[in-house]
Amino acid sequence: MRRLAAVLAALPLVASLALAFEPSSDPAAALLYAPNHDGGGYFNPWQRFDWSLSRFLRWQFSRNPFDKSRTPEIPLLANDGSRLAGREQSATVTWVGHATVAVHDDDDVFLTDPHFGARALLPKRKVPPGVPIEAVPPDAFAVISHNHYDHLDAWSVETLPASIAWFVPLGLADWFRERGRPRVQELGWWQSVSHGRWTITCLPAQHWSRRIGQDVNESLWCSWLLENGERRYFFSGDSGYFAGFAEFGRRFGPIDVALLPIGAYEPRWFMQYQHLNPEDAVQATHDLGARHMLGIHWGTFDLTDEPLDLPPAALREAVAAAGADPERFRTLAIGETWHVPD
Ligand code: ZN
Ligand code: ZN
Repeated sequence: MRRLAAVLAALPLVASLALAFEPSSDPAAALLYAPNHDGGGYFNPWQRFDWSLSRFLRWQFSRNPFDKSRTPEIPLLANDGSRLAGREQSATVTWVGHATVAVHDDDDVFLTDPHFGARALLPKRKVPPGVPIEAVPPDAFAVISHNHYDHLDAWSVETLPASIAWFVPLGLADWFRERGRPRVQELGWWQSVSHGRWTITCLPAQHWSRRIGQDVNESLWCSWLLENGERRYFFSGDSGYFAGFAEFGRRFGPIDVALLPIGAYEPRWFMQYQHLNPEDAVQATHDLGARHMLGIHWGTFDLTDEPLDLPPAALREAVAAAGADPERFRTLAIGETWHVPD
C-alpha cells in the first residue's frame, strides 16, 4: 500500500492554468482560451487556417524569386555531446539543428522536437546533427510541438533511450505508445505538468498538423514553457505571429530564453499564417519580454523558397531595423553551445 501511495505521489499532475490567472482584457487574447476542437479536429479559434491543396499547388508551381543555385553555407561546430552527461554550471543551450535544441540546466537535459534523422519525410538533412543521438542522457526529457515530419521523427524517437519522458500535445500519445514509448504525457493548451523540479506548460501556437496516418488537424500543435524556479524557457514550435506571444509575456514573463523559428518563411502569402519570419520573431521576442532569443528552424532541412542560410542575415537586418539590442538575439552554429548569462 505504501508503495502504491509512493507511485501515485510520483505521477505527474496535470493542472489547468486557465482559471488561475486574471483573464486578459484584450479581446484578441480572450480567443486564445476559446474551445479549439470540433468535429473537424483542432483549430485556432482566433483565426482558422485556410489549408487547401490548391493554395499548396499554387505555391509549388510558382517561380521561386530566390537564387538557390549556390550551396548554402551552414556553420557547423564539432561537438561529441559528452558534456550533456555531466552537471552544467547554471545553463547552456546547444543547437542540434532545425528545431532541435538541447537545454542543459544544472543536472537536467531537455530536448525540443528531437530530430536526428536523415530526412523530414522527403527533404534530406543538409548538415549532420550537432551532437550524436547517443550522447543524449537516459534521464533527459523532451517536448514535441506537433506532428510535422521536421519536428516529429520516428527514427529519433525509437533510437533515443526508452527512459526519456515525452510531453506532447493532445492526440499524439498513442503514436508514442505504439513505438514502445509509454512514458508519454499528453497536454492541451494552458495545461501544466510537474516533472522533477520543472513545470512544463503546453501553450497555443498558430499552426496546424498533418502526417501520413493522421488527418489534417487530428492532433494538436503547441508551444511550450519550461520553468524550474531559476530559469524560464519558451519554445514556440512552429507558429505564425499571433496574439499569443504578448499573452505569454503578460502571464509568464520574464522569460529568460525564447527559442523561436526564423526560417521556412517564404513565400509570405502562403507561409505567413504558419511560420514566423525574422521580423515577426523580433516582434515576438518583444511581446514575450524575453531576455534572450535564439533563432532556430533553419540551416537543416530545405523546406521553402528562401535559401537555407539566409535567416541569420535576415534576423540581423530585422534587429537593426527594429532598433533592438543585437546582444539579445543570436543564432548558433549547428553543434555550438551557448552559456545563458545569469
Ligand atoms: Zn509544422
Ligand atoms: Zn517546422
